[in-house]
Amino acid sequence: MGYDKDSLKQIPQVDKLLKNGIITGCGLYRRETAEALREVLAKLREDIVSGATETVPADDEIAAAAVELAIRRSRRGVRRVINGTGVILHSNLGRACLPEAAVKAVMEAASSYCALEYDVEAGARGDRTSFASELLRGLTGCEAAMVVNNNAAAMLLILCSTAARGNVIVSRGEIVEIGAGFRVPDILAQCGCTLREVGTTNRTVPGDYSGVIDADTRALLKVHTSNFRIVGFSESVALKDLAVLGKDHGIPVIEDIGSGALTDIGRYGITGEPIVAESLKNGADIVSFSGDKLLGGPQCGIILGREKYIALMRKHPLYRAIRADKMTIAALEATLRVYSDPRAAERDIPVLSMLSLTEEELRARAEKLCHDIKMRGGKAEVLPVKSVAGGGAAPGLELASYAVSPVGDRSAGDCERELRLLNIPIIGRVEEDRLLLDLRTLFVDDFGYIAGAVAEMTS
Ligand SMILES: *Cc1c(COP(=O)(O)O)cnc(C)c1O
Repeated sequence: MGYDKDSLKQIPQVDKLLKNGIITGCGLYRRETAEALREVLAKLREDIVSGATETVPADDEIAAAAVELAIRRSRRGVRRVINGTGVILHSNLGRACLPEAAVKAVMEAASSYCALEYDVEAGARGDRTSFASELLRGLTGCEAAMVVNNNAAAMLLILCSTAARGNVIVSRGEIVEIGAGFRVPDILAQCGCTLREVGTTNRTVPGDYSGVIDADTRALLKVHTSNFRIVGFSESVALKDLAVLGKDHGIPVIEDIGSGALTDIGRYGITGEPIVAESLKNGADIVSFSGDKLLGGPQCGIILGREKYIALMRKHPLYRAIRADKMTIAALEATLRVYSDPRAAERDIPVLSMLSLTEEELRARAEKLCHDIKMRGGKAEVLPVKSVAGGGAAPGLELASYAVSPVGDRSAGDCERELRLLNIPIIGRVEEDRLLLDLRTLFVDDFGYIAGAVAEMTS
């Protein structure tokens, strides 16, 4: 082999480099920089042995390379990204962004002691969800409410506390998989319930339910088919009719409504999503939904309904294992408070403000962003597109929107990758070999950063 053994000897020691000013001043942990240094030096050794390099760079150069690598490594995990996909409730990108008031409440609850289970006025022990429950009662008219970790946990608790060792009747059209790990039959089995399927995939009528109700029936379960739609000849039993059956037989009617909109979102073009108050009004005894879907709050599962069932759930041993933490509860309380003023809700809850953006507003924003890109010497154009709510809400529904698309010789895949690998990743979507940045999910405050990145890429 023709490599220079002296070069290998000139490679500096890790301990020496760890004292280099670039390393000590970079603000990373010693272990992170040491690992990166070892990796950079190993690569250098390899390059010398293979003949790809002959000279050993200066210490500063090695240190800088190691810091760059260590910074990249430290940025893995849950970190900020810019969502240009147009999918408002993107489950892989964290679903709902919180309103500012909720962010503030989380910071406060997290950084100081907080009155989590303490009634300040009484100077005595309190309940962690009493204020959230009070707000939910006011907003939905429910008798009682509670909060757990997510909607999947809510379903576990509901079924374990009301229907264990009994039969639960579900329409065949609602025996669904909502996402990895949430399949209705598996959840029922986990709770020790026997699934009694009724009706057919596309059609179920009230008689199907009444025909199988017997002494072992513990509940009638209705599940919102959040992520798909059956079109054509199909019929499901209205909640109202189920409620009559439940009442006649003295068994609870449970409805998993999935997203749980608190306001009428039909005016934004989102149809077919159950409204929480309506579900209660139509006679559901127990209703559950997610906090981080159309409600626009933190990840949690909200259970509403009759006091007697909620009281059972509070006492169930499973509750302790799946109860919500202080940051979640603080965020939920703050988000629910915003709902007390519908105009504030539309303005301040990001999910609702994104939904409420009109085509004209989106076009104006797209043109502004495109203009910013061109001012920086880049190339892009505005295209009309369709965006979706996502997160298992309103399947098949598309909302008219506008996107900014980079222009140039590079493939859409190349552009997608370059923007995704930035310090603050910009995640777009590729359609027909065009990279689209959908204005519905972009924050105006990020336009400067996005424009700079796209200009850099296309100029
Ligand atoms: C989303 C969804 C769930 C799961 O909710 P998580 O809060 O993600 O656990 C359960 N049921 C339905 C109908 C859903 O839409």
